[in-house]
Amino acid sequence: MVQTGRQHDKLLAQDDKYVWHSMKPYNPNATIVATKAEGSWVTDADGKRYLDGMAGLWCVNVGYGRQELAEAAFEQLKEMAYFPLTQSHIPAIKLAEKLNEMLGDEYVIFFSNSGSEANETAFKIVRQYHQQKGEYNRYKILSRYRGYHGNSMAALAATGQAQRKYKYEPLAPGFIHVSPPDSYRDDTNVTNPMELSSVKEIDRTMTWELSETIAAMIMEPIITGGGILVPPEGYMKAAKEVCEKHGALLIVDEVICGFGRIGKPFGFMNYDVKPDIITMAKGITSAYLPLSATAVRKEIYEAFKGTEEYDYFRHVNTFGGNPAACALALKNLEIMEKENLFDRSRDLGNQVVKELTVLLQDHPFVGDVRGKGLLIGIELVKDKQTKEPLDVSLVNQVIAACKQEGLLIGKNGATVAGYNNILTLSPPLNIEQEDIKFIIKTVSDSIKKIK
Ligand code: PMP
Repeated sequence: MVQTGRQHDKLLAQDDKYVWHSMKPYNPNATIVATKAEGSWVTDADGKRYLDGMAGLWCVNVGYGRQELAEAAFEQLKEMAYFPLTQSHIPAIKLAEKLNEMLGDEYVIFFSNSGSEANETAFKIVRQYHQQKGEYNRYKILSRYRGYHGNSMAALAATGQAQRKYKYEPLAPGFIHVSPPDSYRDDTNVTNPMELSSVKEIDRTMTWELSETIAAMIMEPIITGGGILVPPEGYMKAAKEVCEKHGALLIVDEVICGFGRIGKPFGFMNYDVKPDIITMAKGITSAYLPLSATAVRKEIYEAFKGTEEYDYFRHVNTFGGNPAACALALKNLEIMEKENLFDRSRDLGNQVVKELTVLLQDHPFVGDVRGKGLLIGIELVKDKQTKEPLDVSLVNQVIAACKQEGLLIGKNGATVAGYNNILTLSPPLNIEQEDIKFIIKTVSDSIKKIK
C-alpha cells in the first residue's frame, strides 16, 4: 500500500503554487513529485516507489538510470556543447547515418526537438515539395480521427480529437480527417484490404477534395493516444496505395510506435510499407534529452536541391539536433540493439495481451484487450453488446487502485468526445519479467475491484 508523506505534501503545495502542468487542474491527486528513477521504477519525494507502466509519456524505452547515456551527453557537452544545424557537426552526421541504416533505405534527416515539431517540419516539406515540382495546388493534408500529432497549431489541426482542439480554434487550415479502422467496433473482416471502409473513405475523400489539391496523408502505424487502435492486416499498405493513386505522400508518425515500442525498429516495418516521410521523437533518446527527426525519402529531398537561394527549405531550428542529444541518441540506439529490445518488446507484449485476455475475458466491463509489442490497450465498456464506453469515473477507479498498489498506468480514448475508456500500458522495453507479472496481476485485480 502506497502512502504519501510530509516531504511530498510540501512539494505538492509548492507545485500547486508555481507549476502549471496538464493534469493538475482537473485531477490534482494525480500528481507525483518524482525525485529518482531506476530501471522501470520511479521514486517520489517520500521514497515511495511506483512501477512506471507508461514509461513516462510512452518514451523511456531503455528504462531509467542508464549511466552510459548520461556519460555520452556529458562527454559531448565538454567537447562541443552546441553548434547550429544550419551548419553541421559529427554527432548529427553519425546519427543521421545510423537512422538510415535502421530505416533500411535512403532518407535525409531534419532534426528538431519534439514530436510536434517533427510533424510541423513534415507538413512544410510536403507542401513545398509539391511546389518545387510545379504542383502549386497541393496543400491539403489528410489525417485520421482519434489520432494525435502534437500540440502546435498545425500538428493539432492534424490531430483528430475534437475535444483537445475546440478551445484553440481556428487552427492551421488545410487539414481534413477520415475515419481510422477500429477492429473492435467496426466490421474489418474483409479479404481485400482495399475493401475496408476506412480505406475506401481515404480514396473517396481524396477524390471529392480533388486529387490535385492533396499534398499528403499522415498516420501512426497504430493510433496510440486515441485508444490503441491496431489496424487490420493490409490496412496501411492499402492506404499507401490510395495515396499513390492520388499523387499524395505518406507521412508516418513514429513518435510513439518507433524505436521498438511495437516490436520492430520502426512501427511501419510491421506493415510492409515504405513511407515517404517518417517522423520520430520520444524513444530516439528514450527521452533523456529532447530530440526529434523528420526522415525524408531521398527523392523528395532532391527536389529541393539546386533551387534559387530564396527557394530552399525555409525552416530553421535553433536547438534541433543538439550535439549532446545526438550523441546520447546514438548510445541509446546502441543499447536497444545490444539488448535486443525490439524482439523483447514483441515477446513481452504478446505475453501481456495473452495473459490479460485470459484473466479478464469473463469480466463484464472488459470489451477488448489488444496491442502490439509493449503498447497495450484495455477497452472498458458498460455493456459488451452495445460497447458503450464505461464511465470515466469507473476507469479512474482502476487507475487509482493501480496507483495504490504502486503501478502507474494511463488512459485515453476519444471513442466519444469526453470519454477515456481505454486503459493503456507502455512500460520500458527492458522491463523485468517479474515487473511484467506485477503489471498483469495489479491491472487485473484493480479492474475486478470496480464498483
Ligand atoms: N505524435 C504522436 C503520435 C504523439 O503521441 C505525440 C506526443 N505524445 C506527438 C506527436 C507530439 O510529440 P511532442 O509531445 O514531443 O511534441
